Amino acid sequence: MSYEAVIGLEIHAQLLTATKIFCGCSTAFGAPPNAHTCPVCAGLPGALPVLNRKAVDLAVTAALALGCEVQERSVFARKNYFYPDLPKGYQISQFESPLALGGGLQMPASVGGRFVQLTRIHMEEDAGKSLHEGFGDSDRKTYLDFNRSGVPLVEIVSEPDMRSAAEAALFFETLRQILVWLGVNDGNMDEGSLRCDANVSVRRQGETTLGTKAEVKNVNSFRYLEKAIEYEIGRQIDVIDHGGRVVQETRLFDAARGTTHSMRSKEQAHDYRYFPEPDLPPLVVDEPRRAARAALLPELPDARRLRFIADYAIPEYDAALLTQTRGVADYFEETARSSGNAKAASNWVMGEVLRNMKERAIAIEAVPVSPSALAGLIGIVEKGTISSTVAKDVFAKMYDTGGAAADIVAADGLAQISDTSSLDPIVQRVLAAHPDVVAEIKAGKDRKFQFLVGQVMKETKGKGDPKLVTDLMRAAIGV
Ligand code: ADP
Ligand code: MG
Ligand code: ZN
Repeated sequence: MSYEAVIGLEIHAQLLTATKIFCGCSTAFGAPPNAHTCPVCAGLPGALPVLNRKAVDLAVTAALALGCEVQERSVFARKNYFYPDLPKGYQISQFESPLALGGGLQMPASVGGRFVQLTRIHMEEDAGKSLHEGFGDSDRKTYLDFNRSGVPLVEIVSEPDMRSAAEAALFFETLRQILVWLGVNDGNMDEGSLRCDANVSVRRQGETTLGTKAEVKNVNSFRYLEKAIEYEIGRQIDVIDHGGRVVQETRLFDAARGTTHSMRSKEQAHDYRYFPEPDLPPLVVDEPRRAARAALLPELPDARRLRFIADYAIPEYDAALLTQTRGVADYFEETARSSGNAKAASNWVMGEVLRNMKERAIAIEAVPVSPSALAGLIGIVEKGTISSTVAKDVFAKMYDTGGAAADIVAADGLAQISDTSSLDPIVQRVLAAHPDVVAEIKAGKDRKFQFLVGQVMKETKGKGDPKLVTDLMRAAIGV
């Protein structure tokens, strides 16, 4: 029997506001426990929530970018449950009337080419955090940190439209890229500002009704998401193949083992007794406000990638690399514009720039060589003043000193040696030092030629004009 997997994701993304959703407390990560709390987010009786305008703007931006229909009127509700990290005894969320409906993401052919629809996007507050470890009496006590309590989130819910672990991981990755691109979310999965739960079921190939799903929580990387889903698909198929039935439950991913295990079954599932939040009026996003947010939407990664391919004649793979973040795309495009040489700009960005970012674990914004400085370097290479080998050293020096390419080339005497009178003596010296190689070349082993050119380049510290060196060398050997 062959099976088909069915996957739907629920993604929680922290909105990049300075303050919480219903109070003025800071959302900054890493403060001492409970430093960012007040009567509202600590859930003291009588404290009243006031909705953060910026949070709404960011949520609307995300919804518009994902093609959702932003609802003119949405309603906050109380989701009631008891948990120590939830001081009010309820979470303010949106239930029956969410902020946005529909929308979705077109997935590439490599994972099936489906359009994965979104069900909804709603706004809600985050809960606090239970600290079970790290204190002298952690064997007896759990401590609570309410810094996250009231941090603004959007929950993005997909339809069960995905059919493989790889597709789900790519969907999550694409969504992350867009949210970060928009400045809606910082994409930091380690700090919990972007989280994903995976709903997984399987069914016989050709079956049209959905199988019973399990919801897998606690997957905080793309790789883990893929692994967790893959494991879960295999587990469910195994259950069915052995005559069993998949039970609806919540499961936890264990990253160390690469497996999932049951956390709670549907029978233990909560009845949240949702009701409209009496302390907040319905959220109204009228047409002018929606239109204002729409007008501010930047060109999105996909559109920009396609435009790069068309405008700069760069390969698809390169265009994807150059649009991984908005900062990299801006950097490339500025370099291409001011140098007038898109090919060189893309080579430099994909090579030295991205390599430095990776090695130093920094964002493009922290790269000290500006696009116009890089364009200056590209110009000097184009004119033939320096070779591309020397250019790499110049780039490194620009990186370290912040100097301009032309100044570094002048100060260090790096300009290419392209006159015969300086190069010929060096060529002669190299030939004299390697009579055996010369003999081999004369005997027809032309590929040995590069070795000799290399020796000259070494003596000139990479400054010899390779074309001229080659010509002089061929003339001298007579091949
Ligand atoms: P619940 O009420 O358990 O939260 P929902 O119907 O709200 O379930 O769906 C939550 C998520 O689970 C959505 O992302 C949805 O696409 C996905 N989902 C629903 N049914 C299935 C299924 N049978 N298999 C896989 N995913 C599913
Ligand atoms: Mg759910
Ligand atoms: Zn507060």
